Amino acid sequence: MNRKYKRVVLKLSGEALAGSQGYGIDPVTVDVISKQVVEVANKGIQVAIVVGGGNIWRGLSGKAKGMDRVSADYMGMLATVMNALALQDAIEKNGVVTRVQTAITMQQVAEPYIRRRAIRHMEKGRVVIFGAGTGNPYFSTDTTAALRAAEIDADAILMAKNGVDGVYDSDPKVNPDAKMYTHLSFLDVIQKQLGVMDATATTLCMNNNIPIVVFNIDTKGNIVAACSGEEIGTLVDK
Ligand code: UDP
Repeated sequence: MNRKYKRVVLKLSGEALAGSQGYGIDPVTVDVISKQVVEVANKGIQVAIVVGGGNIWRGLSGKAKGMDRVSADYMGMLATVMNALALQDAIEKNGVVTRVQTAITMQQVAEPYIRRRAIRHMEKGRVVIFGAGTGNPYFSTDTTAALRAAEIDADAILMAKNGVDGVYDSDPKVNPDAKMYTHLSFLDVIQKQLGVMDATATTLCMNNNIPIVVFNIDTKGNIVAACSGEEIGTLVDK
């Protein structure tokens, strides 16, 4: 497979922005990530970012505390907007123009999500950051990444993970003998119930033939390597 990408969706979990504290937004960590995004954009690769919100709020955690799931999910979507604005600030400080587009309209804060506009921004070299997930409860930002990648015709989704190099046959944090896969099919991921992304997101990628690269964001330079098509981590495709 040709792993030279023209347009990618970079999926950052909320956790990736939290740094060593494990929650909230750590400006130093955000800056380190942003510098790599800028390096990718300066290579002429079109980048869209989908950012999660787990460093601030997850819908399921609210549900566990007795909240209505839908309200808790909307809070999660709003959390992703805070992360999107933090990334926007840091990427622009590092010299690349960005646009935040949200799936829930908040016009004083960001543009609404408009597919054709997002593509146009990327063609002009702007990094587009998608906030507020899909705008719907009961979904995840992994599914958002799959949906947006299909909509904007991205060549791949680059899934940044904290603390693991790719997809393993068992949890490497628990089992020291866990083996990492370098290549998997979508069906493998679904049948073996591997924790690449949730099943809705994986199915969407499979149906639309969007490859996923799972890689470790903690390794220096890995965002650039993944976006440049270097063979790191685990590739999931058909
Ligand atoms: N969320 C949602 N719909 C979406 C995307 C996200 O309801 O389309 C909510 C959901 O509650 C989720 C939270 O936003 O728990 C934060 O997103 P996610 O857990 O995917 O973030 P990550 O784990 O990547 O930090």
